[in-house]
Amino acid sequence: MKIKSVELVKTIYSKKERYPEPLNGEFVFVGRSNVGKSTLLNTLTERNIAKTSKKPGKTASVNFYKINDLLYFVDLPGYGFAKVSEKERLRWKQIIEFYFESRFWNIKMIFLLVDGRHELQKNDEMMIDWLKEMDLPFSIVLTKIDKLKMSEKSKMIRYYRNLFGENYIVIPYSAVTKEGVSEILKLVEDLGGA
Ligand code: GDP
Repeated sequence: MKIKSVELVKTIYSKKERYPEPLNGEFVFVGRSNVGKSTLLNTLTERNIAKTSKKPGKTASVNFYKINDLLYFVDLPGYGFAKVSEKERLRWKQIIEFYFESRFWNIKMIFLLVDGRHELQKNDEMMIDWLKEMDLPFSIVLTKIDKLKMSEKSKMIRYYRNLFGENYIVIPYSAVTKEGVSEILKLVEDLGGA
């Protein structure tokens, strides 16, 4: 799939806002803060659409990017940043809950990003339990895989594939080598009719 056009059509901050028309469905990107989500969105679209940074502190929002006038990439706020206040954490939970409740019917695939260098973290597990409970389709993207040596890389891929079994796709990915990028885009193409 070639991405020809990208347009940020809607940013949702609260329950008062209306979601955009459904189009051919939406592909969701979620993960811990700093996992490389913005970088992945920029890599997939070959544009600088999402701000990459080492700091959290951005107001939690759900961003809808319209792709090729056909489907959406949905950028959910990153989770698990220790320095965020309890109030902000609650707001994050509400905004994501509201998103899933409002749009579950239009979600074609959720890409859950986890840092390929580490084993699954507690808050990733919570997110996965949540997705399973809601019966939402998701795949695992192992980010920053270029940072691993060959042997460690195979070990981590094996660890994640064992953990998730046959029912979930695990995609090793790197923004540096671009490994995994075409696999993600192919999945979008197959499910989104692009
Ligand atoms: P976000 O908070 O999840 O949006 O994370 P960012 O996209 O801002 O990335 C966090 C940091 O990880 C930045 O310094 C990126 O340059 C770096 N990063 C992201 N993806 C990769 C990758 O695949 N490989 C390497 N080596 N660094 C990455």
